[in-house]
Formats: sequence, structure tokens, C-alpha cells
Amino acid sequence: MKRRNLIKAIGATTLTGGLVACKPKQQECSDTQEQNQSFEWKMVTAWPKNFPALGTGANFLAKTINEMSGGRINITVYGGGELVPALEVFDAVSNGTAEMGHAASYYWKGKVPEAQFFGAIPFGMNAQEMNAWLYHGGGLELWTELYQKHNLVPFPAGQTGVQMGGWFNKEINTLEDIQGLVMRIPGLGGDVLKRAGGSPKLLPGSEVFTSLQTGNIDATEWVGPYNDLAFGFYQAAKYYYYPGWHEPTACLEATINKEAYDNLPDDLKQIVKIACMASNQNMLSNFTAKNNNALETLINEHNVQLRQYPTAVLEEFKRHANDVLNELGDSSEIGNRIFQSYKSFAEQSKDWLDISENAYFKAR
Ligand code: CA
Repeated sequence: MKRRNLIKAIGATTLTGGLVACKPKQQECSDTQEQNQSFEWKMVTAWPKNFPALGTGANFLAKTINEMSGGRINITVYGGGELVPALEVFDAVSNGTAEMGHAASYYWKGKVPEAQFFGAIPFGMNAQEMNAWLYHGGGLELWTELYQKHNLVPFPAGQTGVQMGGWFNKEINTLEDIQGLVMRIPGLGGDVLKRAGGSPKLLPGSEVFTSLQTGNIDATEWVGPYNDLAFGFYQAAKYYYYPGWHEPTACLEATINKEAYDNLPDDLKQIVKIACMASNQNMLSNFTAKNNNALETLINEHNVQLRQYPTAVLEEFKRHANDVLNELGDSSEIGNRIFQSYKSFAEQSKDWLDISENAYFKAR
């Protein structure tokens, strides 16, 4: 029996030491009301509906919250463009059109540039490190502070792991090949590409394939083999580059309208928070489990040409990335605090990973 029904059936007075244990009559009443209160929420997302790992990740989050709350929070999930356009999720949740959103923080670079620190940092921390910074290094506190004035409560709610470098219709052998290259690449990676001579474009997922096929763009990055196979990019471009220097992980975000969150009783607030944490890990596991099989399919069944970025090109990107990050850090007081926190965490994390994960990878 679901908990809310159980509470209804046996009545609050018979519960002692549990969720609605309270002595004064009035308190008992209000707590019982709170336990019986249910919430109908809308979740707008930046993903095509039910898209592997991303759309299904948003579905998983909604379903988990529903089940953990015993049906007290019911969330209807909308794909990008269904209720609001994919790149308007931030505004829709901020103004209360929807109570909740699922997207990537770097999509809001034009509105909140500092949000990009919580999405993906070129040559920055991977998923393991990013989670460590967010949950145990002060990152989430800074993110919460940044979004507060936009009426939003953020939680990490999905990691992609290291992405692929992207799809190209020609080989990238030297920096010359980057000149004038029109590429779909969002966030700070796009800024880096621009400084290296390319022309970045920000397109929502739903427009990427057609743009590549029609030649509107020369190249695109998306996520990794599992997602890119589903999109069918191999039909429009032949060369598939690695590594994803621009997104060593993308940390996807759940945003919750602040009033909607504040209106929840404490136990439901905790359920939302923990469900986001579970979704964050679940998506990383999903990508990690499926990427290699998808890559083999791309190479063996679709004749995709796998290529590694030349070292000289990566070195040039890294040089520009340092400039881009320093400038973003200098752009505001809070930007500076976020950047300093990120940077110092990344430095000490690298020292530890060098003698743990990296040494182990080489040894096994
Ligand atoms: Ca990407």
C-alpha cells in the first residue's frame, strides 16, 4: 500500500515515532494535511522526448521522485519544444511556467555566463572529479547562490562522462583545417573554437542532424557513441574525432522553481534532492555501459572513420581554453569565486588522481 493511502487508512493518531508523530492536536492536524498534500508538476527539458540517456534520464528522475514520494509528487515530462523551446527551459522554470527543468547549464551562457562553470569546462575535471567538487568541495553551494536571484534551485542530475570530439566531413590534420569551420558546439568549447579560427553555433539537439546534412554546419559535437548513433550522425559526416576536450563530462542540471521547492514539506525536499543525486549517477552508468558497443557498431556497420585530434590542435585549444576561463573568472565577483573554487579543487584532485586512477589505468 502506498504511504499516503496508509496514512489515510490508519489515521495519524495511531502513528507514533513516525513521520506524523506529534502530540498537540493542532500540530497533528497540520502535519497530517502536509502528508496528504500532493503536487502536480511539469518538467520541461532541453532534449528530444525519450531521447536515449538524456530524455530517458529526465523520465527516470520524474519517475523516481514519484515513486519515492509515494505519489505525492507527480511530474509530467515535456520534450524540448513541447511546452517551451529547448533553449528556454531556464526562463520557463524561473517564471513558473513549469516547476522543474532538465537541461545543461551552458545553454544559458547569454543570460548567466557563470553558469557555464557547472556544465562543462574544456580540459577541466571529469565526472568523478566534478561530482566530488559539487557535493564535497563547495561547488553546489556556489551554484545554488548563483541561481538564487533567478528564482531557481539547481541540482546536478546527470553526467555524460568524457564526450567525443565530434563529427567532421573532412579530416582535421592541422590548425589550418579549423579556420572558418562552422561547428555546432555550445558553451566554453565554442568560445575556444572561435579563438582557434572556427565559427561555433549553438543549436538544440533537434536541429543538429538536419543542419549537418544540409551543410548548414560543417561539423558537430553532441555527446558520445551511444547518443550519436541514435541521432544517425554517421549518415551526414564520416570522421569521428576524440577526445572530447571541450566536455570532459557534461554535468546536466535539474532546476526547480524556488517557490515550488520552498512549498514542499521537508521530506519531499529531501526526496527531490536524493532523486537528483541518483539520476546523476544513473546517467553516467548508462553512458559508460553503452558507449563502447555503440562505437563498435558505428565503425563496423556504418564505416565511420575514427580519428584522434592531432596533439598540436589540442595544445592550441588548451591555450585558448586557459584564456577563456580566466576571462570568465574575471567577469564578475561571483564568477571569480566560482572559478577559484573550481581551479583549486581541480589542482588538488589531479595530484591525487595521478597516483590513484591514472597509475592504476596504466598498471591494469
Ligand atoms: Ca556535447
